[in-house]
Amino acid sequence: MEKVNLKDLNFKELENWVKDKNWHKFRAKQISKWLYNKKVSSYDEMTDLSKDIRNYLKENTEFESLKLVSYEKSQIDGSIKFLWRLKDGNTIESVFIPERDHNTICVSTQVGCAVGCTFCYTTKDGLIRNLTTAEIIDQYLQVQRFVGNENRISNVVFMGMGEPLANYDNVRKAVQIMTDKNMLDLSNRKITISSSGIIAQILKMYNDPEFPQVRLAVSLNASDQKVRESIMPISKTNTIEDLMKTLNSLPFKTGYRIMLEYVLIKDVNDTEEDAKKLVKLIGKNKKRYKVNLIPFNPFEESDYKRPDEKRVEKFQKILWEHNISAFIRWSKGRDISAACGQLRKKELNNFIKIT
Ligand code: SF4
Repeated sequence: MEKVNLKDLNFKELENWVKDKNWHKFRAKQISKWLYNKKVSSYDEMTDLSKDIRNYLKENTEFESLKLVSYEKSQIDGSIKFLWRLKDGNTIESVFIPERDHNTICVSTQVGCAVGCTFCYTTKDGLIRNLTTAEIIDQYLQVQRFVGNENRISNVVFMGMGEPLANYDNVRKAVQIMTDKNMLDLSNRKITISSSGIIAQILKMYNDPEFPQVRLAVSLNASDQKVRESIMPISKTNTIEDLMKTLNSLPFKTGYRIMLEYVLIKDVNDTEEDAKKLVKLIGKNKKRYKVNLIPFNPFEESDYKRPDEKRVEKFQKILWEHNISAFIRWSKGRDISAACGQLRKKELNNFIKIT
């Protein structure tokens, strides 16, 4: 029988699980404290649990859902890309991104992806499977342990492999665990879900009282339907017009601007004309959005090219001239192909081997 992994349970479920065992209710808080606050790496370290309980947990539950295969640290900016092996042999990646005043982790939510963006390596073999909640949470816990408490990870971006809103239930539970005061206790404002723009799923998330309110980023990547459809097949059924209408209609709080992610690909969507069309598309809703311009990170199997710096800056300038907040996100860890959202597998030989 498949063993339960306690990191698949939100706090309420953990309390019920503890209750089923006829243990005192406070055991749920104790277990949570060890798992999420102390971030221990074994049940033996949970010293205020009785030996019987620890033995029960050891025998009947799974502790780790990921095994570190290798990691690679960028010499440019200190970001670290991790490659993990799952129980079924599949591999996924996460990226630790140190920034001036905080640290971020970019987590994966699926093995592969069905969305099919033409500029993304992850989708080459389609979707293999959804990650479990524990597999998402363990990326955070294991990376935090790896970088040490002095490098506390306060921000989480769901921008790694996969479309987070296509793995809705497991992602929702991961966010519940991340924001629960009894569990990881991260600030809602520091968690970002990045979607390719599946309208029904975005609405579902906003209307779901059980989904903690977190930030939303949407991969726009074009300023008209024709170009978007050519690089993001999802746009055939979720048109740019419907997508923008939906985003414009979402309840809006100043502190929660929607991030429009725009991967700039040379001669595909990076012209001055494209920038002007983007200004028009955003229209009078300038306060609602922030635009993140991400120069394309080339990889071997792709014919797309990265625009030169001047072109990227010109694009940004046009947005600025129209009072649209726009940032250029030069991909972190360019030397290790670690751009979130287009993480790509690299020959394991190029990593520092751990196992
Ligand atoms: S960019 Fe994101 S949504 Fe698009 S194929 Fe890649 S992983 Fe999927």
